[in-house]
Parts: sequence; structure tokens; C-alpha cells
Amino acid sequence: TDIPSQARIKAAVDKAYAAAKGNTAGKNADYIPALAQVPPGLFGIAVVTVQGKVYTVGDAGVEFAIESVSKPFAASWVIEKKGEQWLEDKIGVNQTGMPFNSILALEAHAQTKPAMNPLVNAGAIAIDSWIEPAEPAARWATISQLMNDYAGRTLSLNQVVYESEASSNEHNRAIARLLKGYGTLDGDPEVALDLYTRQCSINVTAKDLAVMGATLANGGSNPLTGKRIVASDTAERTLAVMSTTGLYETTGAWTWNVGLPAKSGVGGGIVAVAPGKFAIATFAPPLDEAGNSIKGQQAIESIVRELIGAGVFET
Ligand code: GLN
Repeated sequence: TDIPSQARIKAAVDKAYAAAKGNTAGKNADYIPALAQVPPGLFGIAVVTVQGKVYTVGDAGVEFAIESVSKPFAASWVIEKKGEQWLEDKIGVNQTGMPFNSILALEAHAQTKPAMNPLVNAGAIAIDSWIEPAEPAARWATISQLMNDYAGRTLSLNQVVYESEASSNEHNRAIARLLKGYGTLDGDPEVALDLYTRQCSINVTAKDLAVMGATLANGGSNPLTGKRIVASDTAERTLAVMSTTGLYETTGAWTWNVGLPAKSGVGGGIVAVAPGKFAIATFAPPLDEAGNSIKGQQAIESIVRELIGAGVFET
């Protein structure tokens, strides 16, 4: 495979960091009160290759809430255990063209696939309702073990973010109830909502996200621990759904500019995956209107253009 040299990766990461560092556009998410308290100037970048080489700059070791970056990894469990057809039929894999927590979008798809896809809140809450064993503590153990396996270390829960979101998530509660009403959510919607809220509150660093992404780039085996987390078909399907909706309603522009499957979260994280090569992850809290880190997008675009031209479409 064509993996850029160590020197090229380091130069690209340092250049992207220097170019994006002074960008003060955007603001922290504040609908989850604890996220508004995170210092907005934090900025870190990490690249991890499929050979397990790690490059970091800035605040790549600072922990933050994973939020929606957790969604593709949780989805991979369902793809692996229930099959790709199940995901396509039961949840859905299409774009919504709407914000990640849109009830309008859910209602528009009510007669077909109200959960829409696993990377919007509806789909992600539904996914957590189907993870097994069904008993809530066991289901949480499955989710947290999965995230630990992808990251190659034991991740902690950000208790402050968890409590903040758990006490302010009426909108997601409404989504969970609607999904239950439409028969797309298994069991108690409160349990699924709580698991989802916990999952979003897992602490990661940019380096962790890069390892998680590099595991997908590496066909489902963690390049640092050597452990297989999912089958290579599952890793491919997971990247496919990231290509359709990883940055929500601005995924089209992202694919146009960068061309790599990616996933953002309102905690300020983004991971982008160059299949067979490496993953790039960033942490910078200020977000654009769609909820995607502004410096993160800028830095990833710069690194991709430096290392692989216009992304996966470069021949
Ligand atoms: N936990 C957040 C929510 O449900 C995740 C959203 C995101 O990161 N886009 O709103």
C-alpha cells in the first residue's frame, strides 16, 4: 500500500496545525451546558497509520466527550452481529439533509425508516436499543468494551458531561419515544436514551479517535494492539455509512472538499479515514452551524490535500 513516509506525515500535520491554530471562527456547543465550559482554544491533531505509527501535535492528549463520533463504532457492532442487510432495512443508510437531531426528518421518514441512519441521533438511539445482551448493564458493558477495543485502551466516562446531557436531553427523549411508537426501537426507550447519552459522554483524546479510525482503515484490526474488533466487511460498511452522513447536512460539501469518510461530534472531535492508509483525528471545540469542528475540518482538509491529493478519488 501507498502510505506516506514518516517525514511527509509529520510535515503535513505540523503545517495543518500552524495554519488552523489562529482560526477563531465558530463556538462551542452550548445546548449541552457542560460542553460550553470546555476551553475553546484547545486544538490537537493525531494521525495513526495502519502500521501503527502515531503522529501528534498540540492538545492531542487532552480528553473530551466523544459525542457523535461514537455513532459509527456502535453501528459497527450491529452490522457485525445482525448483518448489513438488517441495518439497511431496519435503521436505514440514507442522508437526511437535515440537522442531526431533526424531528422533521424523522416524521418525514415515519412510514419507511424513521431512524433514518445510524449517524443521526434517531438512528444512534435506535442502535443502542438493539445491542445485546439486552439487560441494561450488560448492554453498557458491550458498548464500553467495544469503544475500549477500538481505542486500544480503557476509556473513562466524563461524568460532568453525562450528567449535563442527561438532565437536558428532552429533545432526544422525544426522538426515543417517537421511535418506540414507530416500532423501530427495542425495549424501554428510556434505557436506550440513557445508554446513548453515556456512550456520547465517553472521554477520548484526538489520539484515541485516530486509533479508532485507523482500526477501520486497517479493515477492523486495531493497528496498535493487533486485536481484531470487527470483520473487514463490517469495517467497510461502517466507512460507507460515514461517507453518506458523517458530517450531517454538510457531508456533501465535505466529500467534495476532502473525499474521505469521516465523523464529527459536538464535543469538537472529528475522525477521517483513508482506507488502507491511516486515520486523521482532530479536537477543537468551536463548531459550525451543522455541529462540526471548524478547525478540525480545516486541518483535516489540509492534511489530506498534502498527503493524498483530493482524497480517495485521487488516482
Ligand atoms: N450527544 C449529542 C446529542 O445527542 C451528540 C450530538 C453530536 O455530537 N452531533 O445531541
